[in-house]
Amino acid sequence: MENEMKKLIYLDNAATTKTAPEVVEAMLPYFSEKFGNPSSVYRFASGNKEVISEQRDVIAGVLGARSNEIYFTAGGSESDNWALKAAAEAYADKGNHIITTKIEHHAILHTAEYLEKRGFEVTYLDVDEDGKIRLEELKRAIRPTTILISVMFANNEIGTIEPVREIGEIAHEHGILFHTDAVQAFGQVPIHVDECHIDMLSASGHKLNGPKGIGFLYIRKGVKIRSFVHGGAQERKRRAGTENVPGIVGLGTAVKRAAGTMKERSEKERELRDYLIGRVLKEIPYCRLNGHRTDRLPNNANFSFRFVEGEALLIMLDGKGICGSSGSACTSGSLDPSHVLLAIGLPHETAHGSLRLTLSEETTKEDLDYVVDSLKEIVGTLRNMSPLYEDFIKKGNK
Ligand SMILES: *Cc1c(COP(=O)(O)O)cnc(C)c1O
Repeated sequence: MENEMKKLIYLDNAATTKTAPEVVEAMLPYFSEKFGNPSSVYRFASGNKEVISEQRDVIAGVLGARSNEIYFTAGGSESDNWALKAAAEAYADKGNHIITTKIEHHAILHTAEYLEKRGFEVTYLDVDEDGKIRLEELKRAIRPTTILISVMFANNEIGTIEPVREIGEIAHEHGILFHTDAVQAFGQVPIHVDECHIDMLSASGHKLNGPKGIGFLYIRKGVKIRSFVHGGAQERKRRAGTENVPGIVGLGTAVKRAAGTMKERSEKERELRDYLIGRVLKEIPYCRLNGHRTDRLPNNANFSFRFVEGEALLIMLDGKGICGSSGSACTSGSLDPSHVLLAIGLPHETAHGSLRLTLSEETTKEDLDYVVDSLKEIVGTLRNMSPLYEDFIKKGNK
């Protein structure tokens, strides 16, 4: 009973975000009175074609791109799949080597593994203890046969922002395509595709207060890339299928909104994030922050608590109305610790005791105070049940 009375504190905004009310409102007419197929000739429907092209303009404007370089997809995973598979195929006559990292989202990692089975060679770059790739290692990995470099803009688990501009410069100098999975970063930090020499960029609506099942792939003009879905002439014949008009309107509205509030929102979130990090590190012993201290997404905090099991921690937080994540949503349910936490060098036990809290514009200091107080209590309870912790204390570590 007690739980039902509590306010829900949602700190899992890296998994998904709440669709903003004005986004829902903008979408609604496209389910009902404006339901026409944009490919139809009569004016009733063809107006929707213009509406779609307006959304393309909005997104292109935010990225410093051209409207005809924005291709709508069904989300981040599809964009990642498209970028890797289609570029690999289109450039196969030039080479068969792809470079990515060990900390990518599974939409990239599993696509890369698929390509390996099809004869491509993939180098998975290591990262340092903060989760950044080393530019020297990237340079050393480049071969005459390298056709694509794919490095995420910011990591979804530990929030670390990669040196994207430098990576883009290196790729550019070598005439290699550069793709970035910007699903977490887009809408949170400024991104300019020319400044960073980005040839392809993936983004997703539901990570920036837009709807689920819609995203886009930016493809620089001149990049040879195969069609991903064959059929009608939509998306300049590269991705067939009647457009998801409500989704596209929702995405465009969300992007405009995110770009407009970015500065203020990120300053506020950064301040609250640092308050949370400060309190946790100071008030809970045997705990560490994962990810880069400053080059990290404004809303991301990721901790490891020794002698604590992440899943147990999440369940007890849930009991207090707090939504967080351990590892990543996609790996929950499996017993393997997060590949990202292992890549930054955490031992298995420490990686298992991890908690990701990702803030939103609605998060308040009061929420975070309640979260830290709850965490202190829960971590204490779990440690008191842990034989490893008991041993550790007996050995005089108090
Ligand atoms: C969420 C996420 C994806 C997948 O996006 P969907 O729209 O859910 O398919 C890909 N990459 C990263 C970094 C993500 O955080």
